[in-house]
Amino acid sequence: MSIPFVRLDDPQYGVAVQVSPLVRRVVADNPSKFTYHGTGTYIVGTRTDVVVIDPGPVSPSHQEALTVALRGHTVRAILVTHCHSDHSPLAAWLRETTGAPTVAHGPHRIDPDWVDDDEPDEPDTSDVSAAGEPGEVKVEEAVDLAFTPDERVADGDIAAEGPGWTLRAVHTPGHTSNHMAYALEQEHSLFTGDHIMGWSTTVITPPDGDMRAYFASLRKVRDRADDVLWPTHGAPVTRTVPFVDAFIQHRLDREAGVLAAVRAGTDMVPDMVRRLYVDVDEKLHKAAGRSVLAHLVKLTDDGLVTHDGPHHGVKVAYRPA
Ligand SMILES: [Zn+2]
Repeated sequence: MSIPFVRLDDPQYGVAVQVSPLVRRVVADNPSKFTYHGTGTYIVGTRTDVVVIDPGPVSPSHQEALTVALRGHTVRAILVTHCHSDHSPLAAWLRETTGAPTVAHGPHRIDPDWVDDDEPDEPDTSDVSAAGEPGEVKVEEAVDLAFTPDERVADGDIAAEGPGWTLRAVHTPGHTSNHMAYALEQEHSLFTGDHIMGWSTTVITPPDGDMRAYFASLRKVRDRADDVLWPTHGAPVTRTVPFVDAFIQHRLDREAGVLAAVRAGTDMVPDMVRRLYVDVDEKLHKAAGRSVLAHLVKLTDDGLVTHDGPHHGVKVAYRPA
């Protein structure tokens, strides 16, 4: 089963586009291999009081667009799905200018016990639009370690409410452990951040990226059967159940491929990538290796695979358990 990806033909940079009765979207001009056309910042509420979801990257043009879009409105809260550099950094500016509190699951989690000889690139705050340049080997967006929410929300909490709208937190770990989606109850829709995107699968890179948690979060969203999913990047997903089912099947197929590779004696991650991603550009193989590693961590926990030494990594040999 292939994933029925949806396209966004015209991002309309800098303009607040009314995308549903209660929701406007402003797309930031930060296109890249991780962000598609760019970050879609959502503004919920049609009367004076509104909420902003994922303010986006630090970008003068995006700040200007949000300033215009929010003129005449009171921002009740700034919701953040997770702390990648294309989602949360502009929250600091918006908080400063509006006085609204930031709301999220928590800051980005750092795992001090994780040892990996092929660490993802150092966190940095450089312009995210640089991702995807020729020779670029970034495997995911940089982490915004400066972000700590004013208010922490847990799964099921009301994250913000105003006249005619209620946003409830839906914890969706996997892409990151602190990833939070937000359900707009009045429209039976869900702001899915990077957990579910319409244009692409998401990056799951250990240690914070967790394949088991991601599977569980996919099933959680599937079972909600929302009418619409609003990803941060790209067009909305409307046939939500079959769409999420296709994502689950895609990962199950990949997991089966990784397990089959290990059982066939392919023990190193780069060799598994060459075997499993034959149709994928070699420039993306490092990112693919992180995904394979995420599957290997899960398969190890499932008792199906074992590895040399105490730690996981792309330079570690894996064997059938
Ligand atoms: Zn992300």
